[in-house]
Amino acid sequence: MTTLTILGSAGTHPGPGRACSSYLVEADDYRLLLDCGNGSLANLQRVADVADVDALLLSHLHPDHFADVYGLYYARRFHPSGQSPVDVYAPPGAEAFLGQLLPADSRESFARLCRFHTAAPGATLELGPLEVTLFAARHPVEALASRVRQGDDVLAYSGDSADTPELVDCARDADVFLCDATWLTAGGPYPDGVHMTGRQAGALAARAGAGRLVVTHVYPALDPVQVAAEAAGAFGGEIMVAQDLLRVPLS
Ligand SMILES: [Zn+2]
Ligand SMILES: [Zn+2]
Repeated sequence: MTTLTILGSAGTHPGPGRACSSYLVEADDYRLLLDCGNGSLANLQRVADVADVDALLLSHLHPDHFADVYGLYYARRFHPSGQSPVDVYAPPGAEAFLGQLLPADSRESFARLCRFHTAAPGATLELGPLEVTLFAARHPVEALASRVRQGDDVLAYSGDSADTPELVDCARDADVFLCDATWLTAGGPYPDGVHMTGRQAGALAARAGAGRLVVTHVYPALDPVQVAAEAAGAFGGEIMVAQDLLRVPLS
């Protein structure tokens, strides 16, 4: 059985009781983190040992998706049971980009304990029992959407993305579609090619034929319940509001 646990549901910056983007996927005894946004490492430690994370996939290089990589690195470096490396899949240039903020005494161990691999759209990663297929998201920086499959269980994650046909392919018939729904339509107009509104997320889930839609990355000043209500106007399936520490079994 595959289970999703939301470790950070806030978009752009943390809100009261809401960390930034991070999602734990557990299958058998394997643990994959999708993003590692600011504040999320505290939530991770409520449900798992930091040393038990097998791989991390960064959707893109905005701080609300990677800032707690630093905490993950230090927690693995000083872990009571000893050091252990973690595989980090990310868009090109991530290791050099993230390494810039580390002082000289930490760079060698960062490279040793966070083993970076370049991830690109079209690739399929075999991560333990999980098959992860990557798609191009539409965002101001290079960004990945991911489709995570174990057996018949499928989770699709938009990362940060505006509406794009690639996301329909990513989320086609997925059991759970975890989708960027940052904004409410009424607050627009918004810049093109950045995020989606609740309504756009709902329409996308409907086009993809997703089973359940989880609206996430809602901007902290907005009410996620209102965003979900907007999505319901375009999607007839079950809709859930992402909240930190919510567990969502895929089947
Ligand atoms: Zn974001
Ligand atoms: Zn972003």
